[in-house]
Amino acid sequence: MATLFSSEVLGGTLPSTMSDQPLGIRAIFEHAVRAHPRKEIVSRDGAAVVRFTYAAFGRRVAQLAHALRALGVRPGDRVASFAWNGHRHLELYYAVPMIGAVLHTVNIRLFPDQVAYILDHAGDRIVFYDASLTKAVKAAHALAPESGRMFVTMGAAVEPFDGALDYETLLAGEPETYDWPEIDERAAALLCYTSATTGDPKGVLFSHRSTYIHALAICLPDAMGIRERDRLLPIVPMFHVNAWGAPFGGLLTGADFILPMERLDPAGVIELCEQEQVTFSAGVPTVWMAVRDVLKAQGKKLPALRKLIIGGSALPPALLDDLEALGIEAVHAWGMTEMSPIGTVNTYLSELDDKPELQKRERYKQGVFSPIVQWRLIDELGNDVPADGVSRGELLVRGFAVAKQYYDNADATELAFEPDGWFHTGDVCTVDEYGYMEIVDRVKDFIKSGGEWISSVEVENTLMGHPSLKEACVFGVPHPKWQERPVAAVVLRETHDADEAAILAWLTDKLAKWQTPDRIIFIEAIPRTGVGKFLKRELRERYKTLFTDAG
Ligand code: ADP
Repeated sequence: MATLFSSEVLGGTLPSTMSDQPLGIRAIFEHAVRAHPRKEIVSRDGAAVVRFTYAAFGRRVAQLAHALRALGVRPGDRVASFAWNGHRHLELYYAVPMIGAVLHTVNIRLFPDQVAYILDHAGDRIVFYDASLTKAVKAAHALAPESGRMFVTMGAAVEPFDGALDYETLLAGEPETYDWPEIDERAAALLCYTSATTGDPKGVLFSHRSTYIHALAICLPDAMGIRERDRLLPIVPMFHVNAWGAPFGGLLTGADFILPMERLDPAGVIELCEQEQVTFSAGVPTVWMAVRDVLKAQGKKLPALRKLIIGGSALPPALLDDLEALGIEAVHAWGMTEMSPIGTVNTYLSELDDKPELQKRERYKQGVFSPIVQWRLIDELGNDVPADGVSRGELLVRGFAVAKQYYDNADATELAFEPDGWFHTGDVCTVDEYGYMEIVDRVKDFIKSGGEWISSVEVENTLMGHPSLKEACVFGVPHPKWQERPVAAVVLRETHDADEAAILAWLTDKLAKWQTPDRIIFIEAIPRTGVGKFLKRELRERYKTLFTDAG
């Protein structure tokens, strides 16, 4: 395919007259601090809220860079963060890559052995951790005490870590300017591991160039559309694919940047939205479901909040409708760690203006592709599938901010990447004639029943429209006759009551019989990955003998 993204490079063409100054995080930083010196960074910090200007942020980033150099951090070294969304984490986001080192944002919700594994795999020299996470860091460190790693505490620790350095002490007295080096735009800037929904965590090393291009792309008005006048609250963790690029896109546009730290409970989110007049936020559906429930229960609205970007897992249509009724525009987006992560955003295309029926259909989908992403849909034989809104295929992607391999993991790379760079997303989708992509399911989550494929996502979306259900997770269980049959694990809303028969009866005019779960199982909570996605493999394991035991 000869396109903009072609790997064929023509030789001997006329060299341009343009500057080839490297793209990178420094360019974002210098612009932000110079163009918007008075814009605010606001962060919870223990019981307090701290606020300072971009200009002051610039000075602290310089101090941190000096401190890192004094600790012996050299270009190419990996520096880990183990932290919530807070101002010190944001400082690391800039200072570490701007001295040529690599910030490894560790997922704080992984189990200690997984944390120990990725700290080791990444070869981290220093771990910067939030004081409130001391216990988890200690637990991971106890598994590899000989690593020789340094630890730096951010904030006041209740149970200090032996030998850990203190962040503020390191910064104090350091110069407030730094002579930033020029860094090759292809050099690694950030390292992030996938959340392991479908296997071991795999590392993706983002370059300065990919980070810069991704930041520009997410700011486009028909992508996230972050604006200078926004007060941006990233709820999506900075340990999860760079908070979808918000720390870069947000500062690039000059938005005020509000950081919630550990208060991700609905009351905490609502309080911050009200106190700080947040206009824009982003996060996974579960957070917004909880916020919606509280807003509805209290008859409250958040008038300043204009837009939410929701992704990471499918946005249930009922949630989108409820948020809209509360006056909040909810925009569905899809992405992956390997894509930096934004792949699609559900922008509203002008072609739909006079087609109300189509508008309704399209708004729930994952959205239209980012201009920096090239895509294909293929069938099991690798043939291209038409973009007709009906034909399903696995989605393959390539692009300026898409990985071409995993970090130091040849086996996983071989499985997921084609030699010419196409990445197998593992998502099965349709793309319609207007360009809207819809995820039908993950390849591994499809339920194969009697020769038919059942989309677990479709059944979940239907179930989540039931008034008594807080959450529903649908998965396949081996079945002696049908190969697999769908089973739904559901969580009831507090004060609601419904039994299996009632839910199955409610489903009869909503799903075909063969799509309808054979069993509805009531559980306290759905097991989740570190970033809040349903952990279906755990449920599949837990109930794998449900039909065989029953004979
Ligand atoms: P992991 O692959 O370990 O879950 P990622 O965080 O990179 O780690 O997750 C990417 C995957 O999450 C996608 O391949 C897709 O299956 C799912 N996903 C992300 N956004 C959405 C969305 N809006 N709708 C449905 N699935 C989504």
